[in-house]
Amino acid sequence: MRLSRYFLPVMKETPADAQIASHRLMLRAGMIKQASAGIYSWLPLGYKVLKNIERIVHEEQIAAGHIPMLMPTLQPADLWRESGRYDAYGPEMLRIRDRQDRDMLYGPTNEEMITDIFRSHVSSYRDLPLTLYHIQWKFRDEVRPRFGVMRGREFYMKDGYNFDLTYEDAMHAYDRHMVSYLRSYERMGLRAIPMRADSGPIGGEDTHEFLVLADTGESEVFYDSTILDMKLGDRGIDYYDRAGLRNICETWTTPYARTDETHDQSLFEKIPEDRRRESRGIEVGQIFYFGTKYSAAMGATVAGPDGAKVPVHMGSHGIGVSRLVGALIEANHDEKGIIWPEGVTPFHVGIVNLRQGDGDCDAACERLLEATTALGLEPLYDDRNERAGAKFATMDLIGLPWRITVGPRGLKEGKVELTSRRTGESEEMSPEAAIDRIAQIY
Ligand code: ATP
Ligand code: MG
Ligand code: MG
Ligand code: MG
Repeated sequence: MRLSRYFLPVMKETPADAQIASHRLMLRAGMIKQASAGIYSWLPLGYKVLKNIERIVHEEQIAAGHIPMLMPTLQPADLWRESGRYDAYGPEMLRIRDRQDRDMLYGPTNEEMITDIFRSHVSSYRDLPLTLYHIQWKFRDEVRPRFGVMRGREFYMKDGYNFDLTYEDAMHAYDRHMVSYLRSYERMGLRAIPMRADSGPIGGEDTHEFLVLADTGESEVFYDSTILDMKLGDRGIDYYDRAGLRNICETWTTPYARTDETHDQSLFEKIPEDRRRESRGIEVGQIFYFGTKYSAAMGATVAGPDGAKVPVHMGSHGIGVSRLVGALIEANHDEKGIIWPEGVTPFHVGIVNLRQGDGDCDAACERLLEATTALGLEPLYDDRNERAGAKFATMDLIGLPWRITVGPRGLKEGKVELTSRRTGESEEMSPEAAIDRIAQIY
């Protein structure tokens, strides 16, 4: 992509109403534009990151054996009357009436709709286990939408639902979700800690939230620092190996890690003092086993091996895809701008031409553009007639992890400069060597 032909409306001024770094940087880097409170347009650069996150989530869900589909954003109120949540949900639900006077709503989540699909088509235990998911826009009329896409009203969420015959099978689904979520966050270059969460007034269910540590997070978190050393890495995972999965989940949930909602000070104080950490966190996902709550209320039953009809065991599992864009920036930025992890970066490498219009510089940049594209990568070539300082400032702001700088002086010696956005370190090398390095990185 050539910057001269792209749409990247960067802002010089710091937007006054943006309170946290990720919100400021998303506005300044031309990633989003507010349409109304908590509702945003995703401009080309922001859209690319959103789609990269979505792709990782899809790949990891499919690897875990979960099946993608798509449900609508608008839902009939009647389904929610069946579960009893139409009245219970309160003012966070955006209610709409159509021209036939039917009550509709913009879905804040999809338990009712998926349960309706399930009960219409599945009647035997032989069709289980089943986990369906989609990635779709949600609407919650938050009291205080703020921090840009972090607490939007319209937001993009992956939500998945498992249907199982037994509690044990549902726990297997729970473990698949925990591990596939951990892997998804790791691939995005993010550390998200599973924390025991509050299962609400009914109790007895299992639920974990995944939190990214950040000073600007809305949750207060308490954890044992040993959890910071844990990593899934790229070990192969067999999602059918129940014992193996349980083992991974046990390891990840053994160190103390809770939000203020479930925090237990006396348990916390059993950890050696030098390992106790208190900080703030951003909730980027949650997994939840809730048993037969919706299946019993809505008649989602299957005939078991003995022929008797039983309500299925269910769970729902969400990842905040659009919130993750903000959370990633909270965790990866400096005073100059964003620093994208390679896994989600909107462009893999920036090419900066220090003397636009100079025959040698232009030709060298064109060759770099071609060579990186031939690797299957997406370069962003700053081919504008701008001063070097302005070009560097734009690259630093939008946060591409690698930059190749081409200038007349270096070219005379057959050299370009490869710069890491994260460390700021530059190295001179031939254009071919720079391409090799980029190829190795990705
Ligand atoms: P929160 O506690 O932040 O209000 P939640 O617990 O209500 O979130 P869930 O119902 O668990 O949210 O939804 C799954 C995920 O969707 C959350 O973990 C979060 O990442 C994301 N999410 C929820 N509400 C919003 C929002 N208003 N804007 C952006 N993302 C959101
Ligand atoms: Mg909420
Ligand atoms: Mg929450
Ligand atoms: Mg939650």
